[in-house]
Amino acid sequence: MPNPTTTSSPPVPRSLHDVCGDARRANCGQCWQVPGLSCATSTITGRDGYHVARFGRAMRRGLISGDDLMIALRTAGVFTSATLIYDVLPDGQR
Ligand SMILES: [Zn+2]
Repeated sequence: MPNPTTTSSPPVPRSLHDVCGDARRANCGQCWQVPGLSCATSTITGRDGYHVARFGRAMRRGLISGDDLMIALRTAGVFTSATLIYDVLPDGQR
């Protein structure tokens, strides 16, 4: 008889905030920011920004998944490795 507590639920897409948090654990291949600090902070919104290159490094290190990378890139539209992706707070507050 299967144990109901071991059945897995479908994966829930992660928020951009969570993806940025994990990408921050890698250093940046664009500006060489150290792990734990953002690449930039928006002077308008005060949000942390991370270079696209950093998400690529984080994925290669297993910190984020390919799906996570797509979540981040989807927000960028047209991008290069020097494009900044800004973190958003989970509740959308400014
Ligand atoms: Zn950077």
